[in-house]
Amino acid sequence: MPGTILQATELAKIYRRGTSEVRAVDGISLQVEAGEFMAIMGRSGSGKTTLLDLLGCLLRPTSGQLAIDGRSVIGASDAQLATIRRERIGFVFQEFNLIPTMTAMENVLLPLRYGPRRRDARRRAGELLELVGLRDRVNHRPTELSGGEQQRVAIARALVNDPAVVLADEPTGELDSATSERLITTLRELNGERGVTIVIVTHDAGVAGATDRVVRLQDGRVIADVRRDGRGFERALRGEPSTNGHRPRVWARLGELLDRARSR
Ligand code: ADP
Ligand code: MG
Repeated sequence: MPGTILQATELAKIYRRGTSEVRAVDGISLQVEAGEFMAIMGRSGSGKTTLLDLLGCLLRPTSGQLAIDGRSVIGASDAQLATIRRERIGFVFQEFNLIPTMTAMENVLLPLRYGPRRRDARRRAGELLELVGLRDRVNHRPTELSGGEQQRVAIARALVNDPAVVLADEPTGELDSATSERLITTLRELNGERGVTIVIVTHDAGVAGATDRVVRLQDGRVIADVRRDGRGFERALRGEPSTNGHRPRVWARLGELLDRARSR
């Protein structure tokens, strides 16, 4: 089903420590369509994780709007947010976050524990493990798996609820480059063949270069948002600000100063 999965409007997350404040996400507007495969890039501290956590309803924004599947989540209760996360979002983290005492199969089944029971759960989990290339690792525990295999289990787990979008925060951060490349190929296939919508945070240009769209953050703001088929994709990968469809930085800076002057 085509459509807008995520719609963020002037989304902000501001942390206050005493008198100082950190504008971790500083007014980001972003739309993610069904079937997209996109990367969020930026230096450490630029707000990537905070943005992803906001999009995944793990964090509540300080201000701004967020709609998932066209419905605002801003006024939702904690219980409603938990349901949205469980039913609509698949998370993949850098450190895999698997339960060490559980097998690959049990880890994949975990998200289903909290939802309505599904009769075909084991079959589905098995299919997903096969899909990510782990058919003969179904009964292995995390310690018996390589880093790349553990991350594949995490991907299968993220998919078990048929989420609207998979959000992955530096999923290749702990992997060597060959393993990382194989993992990205798997994500590419999930996107291309199954239409899974994927947003992946990475600072690896090789990883981002496999996606169709790169959003680059700096100081909690979007400084580039370019598609593979548009101009400026290579530049965005390398971290050079795009001039394609975006205000040059001097104008952005001027706008900022004006905003600040107005709010005084
Ligand atoms: P990235 O993932 O791009 O490295 P983060 O989103 O983790 O960046 O952080 C963005 C900024 O927000 C950083 O300056 C970080 O120190 C700050 N930050 C993140 N989380 C918190 C928090 N819970 N409390 C205070 N500051 C935070
Ligand atoms: Mg981060």
